[in-house]
Amino acid sequence: MSLSQVVGRLIGVREHVVDPGGGGAPRVPRPVSALVVGGGIAGMSAAVVLAERGVEVTVLEAAPHLGGRLGAWPEELPDGAQRNEHGFHAFFRQYWNWRSILRRIDPTLGFLKPIPGYPILSAQWPTEEFGKLPPAPPANLLALLLRSPSLRLADLRSMDRDAALPLLTYDPVRTYAEFDERTADELLTSLRLPDRARAMLFEVFSHSFFNHEAEMSAAEMIAQFHFYLLGNPEGLAFDCPDEDYATAIWEPLTRYVEKHGGRVRTGVPAARLDRTPEGWRVTGADGDVWDAAHVVLAVDPPALAALVDASPGL
Ligand SMILES: Cc1cc2nc3c(=O)[nH]c(=O)nc-3n(C[C@H](O)[C@H](O)[C@H](O)COP(=O)(O)OP(=O)(O)OC[C@H]3O[C@@H](n4cnc5c(N)ncnc54)[C@H](O)[C@@H]3O)c2cc1C
Repeated sequence: MSLSQVVGRLIGVREHVVDPGGGGAPRVPRPVSALVVGGGIAGMSAAVVLAERGVEVTVLEAAPHLGGRLGAWPEELPDGAQRNEHGFHAFFRQYWNWRSILRRIDPTLGFLKPIPGYPILSAQWPTEEFGKLPPAPPANLLALLLRSPSLRLADLRSMDRDAALPLLTYDPVRTYAEFDERTADELLTSLRLPDRARAMLFEVFSHSFFNHEAEMSAAEMIAQFHFYLLGNPEGLAFDCPDEDYATAIWEPLTRYVEKHGGRVRTGVPAARLDRTPEGWRVTGADGDVWDAAHVVLAVDPPALAALVDASPGL
């Protein structure tokens, strides 16, 4: 065991034991059907594993293209056609499940290219580089603290170290029990950090996910600190497809699902769900209906709320 691992153990860093899954039957024993509503990462991942096991699966995606927030669609511009996307997406190396789905279309993940750095930009403070840290905790945390111009030794001394301890000792049950009612803002204030360190080293964990600290659970921030910095030997390294997401991911994933007997339908917004004696009926916005034994709802939260509202039998 390396020194880094020993220190890690002492401060509560634990290696993840990844559940390999696969405890069930490799194939369904008799014909069974499923509808997947929503064709983003969640819905298409569900379709992949269901189709592989012989489930007759149909994906219903409301938009004309797949991918949801990771979508890419053609756009005609004055200087020619191009693909448009919602924004930059890269995948951390500890996104084991998603990478496992992507290996279905490229077993070596050769289409994912490493992103060389992880700069944190601020209008107020100089750029801080989160990348190029030692990958494993706690060496990465120590390197970050020693190297960061945002945090001096004197700052570390005046910090409330008791308040910081929960950041180092994440536990999926205890952390949420103790901190889910507090905001990330309250947690960060209790650390007594200088404004610059707070903004550059900690608020990045909320802003990266479009949250403001005042509206985010302190437990969520501790969980993210753990997941991205302390809890995984992969560290803050991520990779990005070398093509637009439609070409790199959605087209090959669609072919994969179809090869396993599944169907993928775009431009089909589900409007409501009803129980039937055999399972479920999904009614589309244009009145078309689909029946199946099972339904997976993989839509975004506002769409899910609307679907539940419109489905009294759900
Ligand atoms: C700008 C931006 C940058 C991001 N950067 C990263 C990143 O770098 N790395 C990363 O891992 N993650 C990133 N994320 C987060 C990531 O995009 C999401 O976590 C992920 O795409 C969510 O997938 P999902 O399948 O759960 O939901 P969604 O992608 O929202 O998919 C839901 C799907 O359901 C469909 N739908 C909704 N209502 C209906 C209906 N009634 N009937 C049928 N279909 C319906 C929607 O059209 C959509 O396609 C980023 C997000 C954004 C917005």
